[in-house]
Amino acid sequence: MDLNEVILIKGTDAPDMLKSALGLLNEPELFENKDIVLKPNLACWDARLPREVNKWTVTKPQFIADVIQSLKTFKPKSITVAESAFVDNNIDKNYKNMKLKKIINDPNIKLINLDKYPFKSVKFFDRKIQISQFILDAEVLINMPMLKTHGSTIVSIGMKNLKGILHSESKKIFHRFGLGKSIAELSKILLEYNKPTLTLVEGLVGLQGFGPMQTGKPKEVGCIILGKNTVSVDAVSSEIMGISPQEVEHIKLAEQNGVGIADLNKIKVIGDKIEDVKVKFEKAPTEAETKDAIIEILELPPDSVDVIHGHLCSTCALNYIGPVWALRDDAGTNYRQKILLLSAHAEVPDDYEGQLILWGNCQRKNVQKAGKDAIFVKGCPPSLMKGYMTFGKALYRRRTFIKGLIKRLFKGMGKIGKLNHWP
Ligand code: SF4
Repeated sequence: MDLNEVILIKGTDAPDMLKSALGLLNEPELFENKDIVLKPNLACWDARLPREVNKWTVTKPQFIADVIQSLKTFKPKSITVAESAFVDNNIDKNYKNMKLKKIINDPNIKLINLDKYPFKSVKFFDRKIQISQFILDAEVLINMPMLKTHGSTIVSIGMKNLKGILHSESKKIFHRFGLGKSIAELSKILLEYNKPTLTLVEGLVGLQGFGPMQTGKPKEVGCIILGKNTVSVDAVSSEIMGISPQEVEHIKLAEQNGVGIADLNKIKVIGDKIEDVKVKFEKAPTEAETKDAIIEILELPPDSVDVIHGHLCSTCALNYIGPVWALRDDAGTNYRQKILLLSAHAEVPDDYEGQLILWGNCQRKNVQKAGKDAIFVKGCPPSLMKGYMTFGKALYRRRTFIKGLIKRLFKGMGKIGKLNHWP
């Protein structure tokens, strides 16, 4: 199979679809007697939230099991699932909570926590990043993303999923250089290591809207996409989502940098046709639309919370949205004042209303300019508890907040309320 070829299979029965895709690939030597590593996208699983909702945000555990069964027909030497967590989280907990071991149901398949394995230091622009040695050494690496919309990168598919092979400190560096540029550069670096061997997109049910987490909504698609070049696979996948690959900075940059072909006229799609599968994903809100999206999704009073993101890390977003969400359930929405949250690269606006909160270590640069009335919340990212206490004190009268806090102490930080678009 050539690098500009992408296999597309429409359907609903994953084992059948995998059989067709691997049949069209027709390269059994890629798998026979090989050590195969699968890198799914599992970081967004949140043990506090319902299973049904979590399933929208990750490569489906049952799909991983189906892929393993299909690969076993080629008699590989070993198959390993390898993934890392968001900063400050633990992927072992995700594996356990999603019952991945049980679903795979084969004691010979290892689940690896990449955060516990060595990393290799690699030049990245004028700095270094740490890439998992385990992944770089993999004999066969199958990148297994899902189809997602993303607030900072428009889509999160194959190239974005590879950010999960980095050390947590290096993931933060990505946000400092800019996500699009960094994701494209990582794909360029990985090309030198011939990684990944294949990208296999689980396109059964995607995530649309306010992604990449549970604030987004499921989107039925019904396909799998397979190819050797991640840029070409991402270009086809993005088109299937109804989003032109030319709109996506990291896909465009990767093509310009010679990492792969993103021009759909130059990609040969084998199997089903893009037009027969294509759906229209609702895009994630842009940074400018985030404030309204948060207000809508958390059902907050209009104009109560304003945010300027400046390309923040997903975990940094999660750690402020989570506490505002929890406080809504504990203390209600009778706020005493509006808050304006700045994060990552955001600058202090000349004019603003309400309590200014500088969220996370990236905002240390604004402490002096913002003045003594602003609240700087340290941490990279700040913890959920710090978020809860900061927003609680800023948003509520003391009595209301204390009452809410007592409720929360009984519930624990792990319980979080339902969003209106959840089943
Ligand atoms: S402070 Fe937040 S946005 Fe900045 S690097 Fe840390 S986690 Fe990312």
